[in-house]
Amino acid sequence: MIIMHFKCNGCATPCCATREGEDKKIMLFPEEVAFLEHQAVELARPFAVLEDMIFPDIKNRVILVGSYRIYLEMLPSNACGFMRQENHWCMIQELLGLEQKPLVCQAYPIAIKTVDATTKEYFLDTGCPFIEEHVVAYARMKDLTTVVEVEGFLRENFPVEFRAANQIVNRLAWIPLRLRQLEQEGKIQVPDEFTAEEWAEALPAWDRVDLIPGNE
Ligand code: SF4
Ligand code: SF4
Repeated sequence: MIIMHFKCNGCATPCCATREGEDKKIMLFPEEVAFLEHQAVELARPFAVLEDMIFPDIKNRVILVGSYRIYLEMLPSNACGFMRQENHWCMIQELLGLEQKPLVCQAYPIAIKTVDATTKEYFLDTGCPFIEEHVVAYARMKDLTTVVEVEGFLRENFPVEFRAANQIVNRLAWIPLRLRQLEQEGKIQVPDEFTAEEWAEALPAWDRVDLIPGNE
């Protein structure tokens, strides 16, 4: 039974900006960064990213990048440069369509929590007023105990968002598998331990290689 019909109303505490007291990351996969950097030039928007999920490859002395995050702190508003200040809408969605947005933006208000290297959990961002307005339905979801039940609830009530969230989970699962495969082929060597001193030396000096499926 569908009990929520998700609709963004461009609220005063938009998800595309850091809210007060919030520690926010808007994750991007490398190919999404390339696309958004191009759009930023086309649309003359401020946009920058920071590396997020990185792995040192001591064999080739490069840093492998699994994901980035939008550098929200770059603007005084702490908002993504593609967010329209007047109505909090996304310019990418408005001009190019929903499917051109990064996957995490397509998945919102479903967010993903990393429990451990192999376990990810879906949850709903209660910072979105839509979720607050549907707090009874949300509470019903909180009563669901198994992963299958929670996923069933999300799939039914947020079909588009759940599909995107699922793609993110699959992509995140691909990263360690790809690293293991490259190690087994003897192409890279990612140590279990990499000290703060080693990072301090590697970060400014080593080249970057993005981890992208199909770019093998
Ligand atoms: S937090 Fe919710 S209502 Fe506000 S801008 Fe984001 S999706 Fe829209
Ligand atoms: S790309 Fe669009 S939806 Fe994603 S954070 Fe930026 S403005 Fe928001």
